[in-house]
Order: sequence, then C-alpha cells, then structure tokens
Amino acid sequence: MSRREELAANLDAVRARIATACASAGRDASDVRLTVVTKFFPASDVRHLAELGVTDVGENRHQEAEAKAAECADLGLRWHFIGGLQSNKAAAVARYADVVESVDRAKLVAGLGRGAAEGDRDVDVLLQVSLDPPGAEHRSGAEPGAVADLADAVASTDRLSLKGLMAVAPLGGDPDAAFAQLAQVHRELLLRHPAATWLSAGMSGDLEQAIGAGATHVRVGSAVLGPRPEFK
Ligand SMILES: *Cc1c(COP(=O)(O)O)cnc(C)c1O
Repeated sequence: MSRREELAANLDAVRARIATACASAGRDASDVRLTVVTKFFPASDVRHLAELGVTDVGENRHQEAEAKAAECADLGLRWHFIGGLQSNKAAAVARYADVVESVDRAKLVAGLGRGAAEGDRDVDVLLQVSLDPPGAEHRSGAEPGAVADLADAVASTDRLSLKGLMAVAPLGGDPDAAFAQLAQVHRELLLRHPAATWLSAGMSGDLEQAIGAGATHVRVGSAVLGPRPEFK
C-alpha cells in the first residue's frame, strides 16, 4: 500500500467514526470539523492529506509548524497551532497560523495581536482550558475560573477573533467527566461571548466522547498518520 492509500484508508475510518458518533449523539455530521494533527510528519503527508480533502491541519511546535506552513503555502490549508506557546513566539505564530487553539494566559494575547496586525491578517483564537483536577500536576490550559477575563482580553484585541474553547482530557482520567466540565465552561462563555461557538475537543482515543459532549472540532493525529516517532 502506498502512503497515499494508507492515509486515505485511515482518513475514511476516522470520518466514519465521526459520522457514527454524530449519529448516536443526534447531531448532524456537518456539525463537527476534522483537524488532522500532522506534527512529526513531513510536508509530503500534508500534501497527500490536502489532496484527500483535508482542509485543516494542526501543529504543536512553532519551528516545525512555520516551516511546514511555508512549504505547503500553495495548498490553501487552514493551520491550527495547538501546542504550548512561549510568549516570545506568539507574534511569530500569528503570522502563519489561522487558528491558535492554545491561548491559556493573558501574556500571549498582546503578542498574537501584534503578529496578526503586522502580518495584516486575522487570527481565530481558542482558549485552552485545563480539565485537570485541582492540585494535579498541571498540563497546559487556563483554569476554568480564568476563562472569562482571558476571553475579554482576546475579544478586545484587533485582528484576533474569539472563537471558543479547546481542551485535552486528562491522561488516565474519565474523558466523559472532563468533557462534561468543558461543556459547562463553554456554556458560561457563550453567555458573555455568543459568537464563541467552537469547542475543540477529542483526539484519536476519545473523539466519540468529545462529540457526545458537544465538540465542534476534533483534532486527530495518530489515527490518520500512524504512531508518532518517540523522539522529540
Ligand atoms: C498531538 C495532539 C493531538 C492529536 O493526538 P492523537 O492522539 O495523535 O490523535 C490533539 N491535540 C493536541 C493538543 C495534541 O498535541
């Protein structure tokens, strides 16, 4: 099987999973968009994916993302930055990313706004929410209680558009409980920012649970591209 055929088969399987999950949640399959996470995989795979109808790709490391976006600039893809972001890199990310999903602190907002303005582009923003239990060793994400202020900061920044929330279910935890909490944080956000309708949740292992909890965007890597290399 060629790489192209392998990606096509995996993509079909993931699209079928999304359709089944939407059906069992009583949702329309067009409610959920697929972002294929291409981190660690080469630009040649991104090119295959674009030819197979993928419109949105996700990356989590600035240097790799910047290089791949440049190499694939002719494909008209939407680039989602989904990784931990250093504040001194925020402006640079806003020059190629169409969506930045991992905004988890106020310090990033000014840099993103500056990069977007300098690049004369509009950047969609999702706030990443931490779903870890209080006191857990935190992975990235804003505490749910910090979301309202962060949302106001993004909404009042030129060239940034607040679209909604993103989260990763805690490792080893119950994804249903985590996504239910996320949905609650999202309902509260919508009261203040009714246009922030996107909910990016669900990966290769838990996209069904996320769709059941209302995800509008799923971020799927290994189920499409295969296992990532272990090295960093
Ligand atoms: C890598 C990554 C994904 C994709 O994970 P898979 O389990 O390979 O589908 C989704 N979201 C984020 C934030 C990631 O870093």
